[in-house]
Amino acid sequence: MIILPDDVTYLLNILNRNGHQAFVVGGCVRDMLLGREPYDWDIATSASPPEIKKCFPHSFDTGIAHGTVTVVYGKRNYEVTTYRTDGVYSDGRRPDSVTFTGSLTEDLARRDFTMNAIAYHPAAGIVDPFLGKIDLQNKLIRCVGRPILRFSEDALRMLRAVRFSGQLGFTIERDTRRAIQKNAAGLRRVSVERVRDELTKLMLSPFSEKIKYISELGLIEYFPVDYPPTKQELEHAAQTLKNCSKKIILVYAVLFYNREPEFVLRSMRALRFDNNSVRDTSRLIKIAKSPIMNDDYNLRKFLSANQDLFNEVFELRRLFGRDEGDKPRRCTAIIANGDCLHVKDLCVNGKDLLNIGLNGKEIGDVLARMLDIVLRDPTLNTKDKLLRSVLKCSL
Ligand code: ATP
Ligand code: MG
Repeated sequence: MIILPDDVTYLLNILNRNGHQAFVVGGCVRDMLLGREPYDWDIATSASPPEIKKCFPHSFDTGIAHGTVTVVYGKRNYEVTTYRTDGVYSDGRRPDSVTFTGSLTEDLARRDFTMNAIAYHPAAGIVDPFLGKIDLQNKLIRCVGRPILRFSEDALRMLRAVRFSGQLGFTIERDTRRAIQKNAAGLRRVSVERVRDELTKLMLSPFSEKIKYISELGLIEYFPVDYPPTKQELEHAAQTLKNCSKKIILVYAVLFYNREPEFVLRSMRALRFDNNSVRDTSRLIKIAKSPIMNDDYNLRKFLSANQDLFNEVFELRRLFGRDEGDKPRRCTAIIANGDCLHVKDLCVNGKDLLNIGLNGKEIGDVLARMLDIVLRDPTLNTKDKLLRSVLKCSL
């Protein structure tokens, strides 16, 4: 059962009133048929890009060469794309040219999988020339047309197949799977960023155990990045991620858990992650492997350095078999209690110390010492008590 949002129906109506065919297509139809909330709505139309723009003054060119216009309506963006067929793929990544066509079926034929090649219009109903609905019912990911050809056109599709199987819990159909095995080397031509994005979506997906396809189908040998994950790492992650929260640095920490921090940095950089993700993933692994003492002083000290990652640290330790007892709960209690954990939360600041005659480096050292005093005993975080402790030391 497909019920379109009013805004989408409005966009289809406008195109129809101006004499054009228009259908919702791709991921949104697939998701509706699966009873899931679509992430975004894509429209395919017989209208040419200038005709689309004439229908919708609030629009801008996105991939005009590929026939895509973004229409802004009701505070949302909709991609409206002219029916097209793709020309020759000489680089295994994208078509050298595209040709606009008046045929919806031709447009659906260029799409990757049968479940992504279904169109819908409220009056015309479902248009499903490649029997995607049956594959959806059978939970199968199957290429539109000859799989070997489709993967040689665009090698990214192989990873998309694996990623969709993780997101939906589907199996990759046999011929499609075999074609991935045969064409695995084509992955070398895909850009690092696109590989990283697919791998990340897969590791964050509810059926992350489908990562196993990456090693089973031989894709891992052709990962186009320096310092790629190994087969063993992927297979281990496939099991461990089943019980893991879906956070990017955490899933990559699971993947690279057994590596040295320097090597983790290199792998994350090679995947072109932003600096914070690179640093935090490596940090997370390092902290998770260090001992965490059980007494309140050490727990406060641990939080003082690692409060931003403490949930992830305990989760990672649990995933790798450490029993933390009540440490996570006690850390949460320390934070809820508002215990001072950082120099900025001390009741004394640099200016107070200047006023009593300290200067330069001394001030930093004294504040660090005061923090240690307060981490041992939070009740000492008053201006009076802390200043007394300095005076006592300097006597
Ligand atoms: P998601 O939920 O990830 O957005 P989606 O199916 O909407 O899934 P998109 O990448 O948004 O995926 O692409 C929209 C549609 O465009 C797909 O459903 C598919 O029909 C088509 N498509 C996208 N990428 C490719 C590709 N590499 N080759 C062929 N068709 C593709
Ligand atoms: Mg989409």
